[in-house]
Parts: sequence; C-alpha cells; structure tokens
Amino acid sequence: MPDTRESALRGDCANCFGLCCVALPFAKSADFAVNKSSGEPCRNLQEDFRCGIHARLRPSGFQGCTVYDCFGAGQRVSQVTFGGVSWREAPETARQMYEVFPVVRQLHELLRYLTEALALRTARPVHAGLRTALARVEELAGGDPDALEKLDVARCAPRSIRCSSRRASWSAPRRRAPEERRGADLIGKRLRGAKLRGTDLRGALLIAADLSGPTCR
Ligand code: SF4
Repeated sequence: MPDTRESALRGDCANCFGLCCVALPFAKSADFAVNKSSGEPCRNLQEDFRCGIHARLRPSGFQGCTVYDCFGAGQRVSQVTFGGVSWREAPETARQMYEVFPVVRQLHELLRYLTEALALRTARPVHAGLRTALARVEELAGGDPDALEKLDVARCAPRSIRCSSRRASWSAPRRRAPEERRGADLIGKRLRGAKLRGTDLRGALLIAADLSGPTCR
C-alpha cells in the first residue's frame, strides 16, 4: 500500500541528509545569495545536516529555501533508498544519491497530486484510475538506486497517470471555464491579484513571477 500520509509527502529535514542543500545547484538571485553547483554542500549546511541560518534565511538572502518543498523525497532517499547511510559516511554513494534525489522528488510530487486528487469528491469517477496510478508511482519511487538513477520520469509516467490527474483537475469545482496557460513563459511576469483559479499552469515557467495577493479567486 503506498504511504500517502501527508507527513510522508512533506519534507522532514530531521530525517534527511540535507539533500536539497547539497544536491541542487543554486544561481545567485533574489532567492539565493550565492552561486553553488550540484554536489557542493551549501556553505550554511552544518555537520549534522541542519541549516546554520535557519532562523534568518530570508534576511540572509536565502528566501528560496523557505519555500522549497521536496515532497518527502529527502527522507525517503536518505532513510530508505540509501538505508540511512549519509553521503558523509559513505562518500562513494554521494554522486548517485545526488542523481537519485531529484528523480524521487518528481515522483513524490506526483504522489502528492494524486493523493490530493483522490480527496476530491468530484473526482470520484476517476478514483480507480488515480489509485492505479498512485500504486505505479509508489512502485517506481521504491526502486533501488540504480533503477532510480536511470529513470526518466517524464517518459515513464504512464499515460494513465497524466490522464487521470488531468481529469481530476478538470473535475475540481470552479466558477468559470479553465484558462489554458500550459507551458506559458511567465518568467518575471506581474501576476499580483490575477484570477488563476482553475487555470492550467502545467509546465509554465514561473521563476520570479509575482504571485502575491489573492490569486485563486
Ligand atoms: S541556506 Fe540553509 S536551508 Fe538553504 S541550502 Fe543552505 S543549508 Fe540548506
């Protein structure tokens, strides 16, 4: 049975080897105060994998860290996929751990959306398809490091997953016809106060877009 508890699909930093702080690259910007390459531990990451500036991330120029969500991939990769042995204890696993983390994050993001769709009463007609998709994604996320490293999530996510989740999103209550903005280039756009409820933003580029204000009316 897939573990779809909310806690399993939300980051649990206490059980993670600081993977988002080491595996991901940063570009110096409004969200990150420094440049950092993939595999390079953030200068603020402590030996115990805690953040040395946790209480002052925003004033220190790391506001991107306050909104990042690994969807629970960090604790799965740390404690399950790599059996609780960190990249500090076993440096020979580091490269593969850093490759696997973003793959599992994509799968956990799918698990979160599928779980949320299953909670929609209006999506009942597609619940069977959603459950099948959920089981398949969970199976993929539970793979061993070699299998996960080679996994191309975009290619292997079965068509049924995309169709079921899309039908579920269409079934969500909305007051007007959904607007189609899939894949739109919205980088840096001023969307403050825009009415985005029901808008399909799948694949849209929203880096540095202003989404402040009530945008889901
Ligand atoms: S600033 Fe803290 S939370 Fe952000 S990447 Fe560095 S160690 Fe991690």
